[in-house]
Amino acid sequence: MKVVYHQRFTQVYENDPAAEAGRMEAIIKELDGFEVIEPQSAGLDDILLCHTSVHLNYVQKYGSVYETAMLAVGGALKAAEMGNQGKAAFAAIRPPGHHASADSCWGFCFFNNIAIALSRLLEEKKIGSALVLDFDLHFGDGTANIFKANPAVTYFHPEDGNRQDFLDHVKRFLDEKKSDIIAVSAGFDRHIDDWGRLLTTEDYRTIGGIVKEYALKNCNGRRFGVLEGGYNHLVLGQNVRAFLEGMD
Ligand SMILES: [Zn+2]
Repeated sequence: MKVVYHQRFTQVYENDPAAEAGRMEAIIKELDGFEVIEPQSAGLDDILLCHTSVHLNYVQKYGSVYETAMLAVGGALKAAEMGNQGKAAFAAIRPPGHHASADSCWGFCFFNNIAIALSRLLEEKKIGSALVLDFDLHFGDGTANIFKANPAVTYFHPEDGNRQDFLDHVKRFLDEKKSDIIAVSAGFDRHIDDWGRLLTTEDYRTIGGIVKEYALKNCNGRRFGVLEGGYNHLVLGQNVRAFLEGMD
């Protein structure tokens, strides 16, 4: 498992929970044993695969966030490229992206990292279809909007309030739908000690294992994840680690 990460992601670029001091450090200190790779910033052409030039200009003028957001998209592009070669990869990046639509954003997001990464693979015809599993607490309206009219990408956000139902629903989705790659919007804010108060750390390992199982079965192992939410620094690192160990 390769993890895409850059020290710049530790910089506090905004006053929101995703940008808080110590959040990325909480993840990185748990990643002993994983190979860490630095991303390059995305290009403007990457952003424009999913966003309008008006939205790009808005983020450019937003302040300190822009450079970090471009690097985050670059991280997702890198993870997707590696995942597409059949080996699991994860982008430990921020700001998150799943609340970013073509022409707007909210919820601590600016550019839609996972949507841009998949659009790049589609654009280059490296894949013909993709599944997006978004297990963040919140519905990724940006990702759903971007792919709404695109039958090549199926977005899924399980919302069950019962742990076992949630895990069963993840499994059923990946079992029923086939695609060339599985992309995961990995938000950890549904943990029992985070905002959603539902899943255990071991559940994230289970979800990672389900992703691996169906990627190997249906898409030559092609799978990658990108970080979305997760706000309790005391448990975030172990949750990311459990998910990565499951998916590896
Ligand atoms: Zn969330």
